[in-house]
Parts: sequence; C-alpha cells; structure tokens
Amino acid sequence: MSDQEALDKLTKLANEDDKKREQKEYKKYTEHGDKIQWIIERAKHYEKITLVDYRTVIDLWESKRNMSYMNFYQDGKQPLLEGENIFLLDDWLNEAVKLFGKDKMKWGFVCPSCKHDQTVADFEAVGTDPANAYLHCIGRHNKKEDEGCNWAAYGLFNICDITVIDTNFLAHSVFSFSEKGRLVEY
Ligand SMILES: [Zn+2]
Repeated sequence: MSDQEALDKLTKLANEDDKKREQKEYKKYTEHGDKIQWIIERAKHYEKITLVDYRTVIDLWESKRNMSYMNFYQDGKQPLLEGENIFLLDDWLNEAVKLFGKDKMKWGFVCPSCKHDQTVADFEAVGTDPANAYLHCIGRHNKKEDEGCNWAAYGLFNICDITVIDTNFLAHSVFSFSEKGRLVEY
C-alpha cells in the first residue's frame, strides 16, 4: 500500500467513525427531547385533574427526584390519573372513611399475595406502624407462621391493584380495601 492509499483509507475510516458518533449523539439528543416532552405533557395531565399548575407539579416531582430524569420519569411513577384503581391521596382517604368510618383502626386491607384480611388495629396490636396495614402483610410483623406472609407492596414485583398518588404527585402501590367490615356495600 502506498502512503497515499494508506492515508485515504485512514481518512475514510475516520469519516465513517464521525458519522456513527453523530448518529449516536443525535439519537441521545432526541431521546432526551422526547422525555422532556413527555414530562411536560404528563404534568399538564396532572394539572387538568388536580387543578395544580403543571409547573408546580414538575417542581414537586423534581424535589423528590433521586435518580436520573430518564429513569425517574416513567408511567410507573407518574401514571395517567385514570381508571378506577388510581386515587389521589385525599380521594383514597375519603373512600376509606366512606367504607369503614372515621376510626382508622377499623380500616381494612387485603394482602394481594396470601389474601390475608387485616385492619389497622391488627398492626397496632402487634406494636408496629399502623401505616404498614396497607403496605405490609401482617406476617412480616406478627411472628406467626400460620397468619399472613412476608409480602410488601413496594417489593420487586408489584401485584397490588390500587395506586395512590401522594401530595408530591408520585404513585404508590397499596393493598386493596377489605370486603370485611365495610359500612356500605357496593
Ligand atoms: Zn400476605
């Protein structure tokens, strides 16, 4: 190979490499652009339902973001607020009051894994945080092998049917309300 031929070959390789890099950069650029568009559209959807300005919604999300925005912003964390199984926090609390009354101790939840039916009072009785009643199966706390299991709503696998949107507009999976102990029937 002559010097000229070698030079031509190198130039060609360098050009191809540049082109590949440009395509990669462009893809990255458009992915980020798409994600930003997604965030704005999702925040506007939240504004429509909650009447909270979408810029405030984004500020609240950002105040809780503890990972890259490409990972943080996704349907699992900021789901569309539609369907019977997604509640804003206040609506979910109101639903519990409607079903079980104002005494939180009587609120009941069902473990999605073993179907154990439990009340907030059951958690109080074993000396653990009552808020666990909609997140943990009592089996995690009662040390009894024949009652409940080890399930937690925020585990790797999500089998909960209910999603609650907190005051920062982030989604949490929770156990369904018990059929037992209801004041009203549907
Ligand atoms: Zn269970």
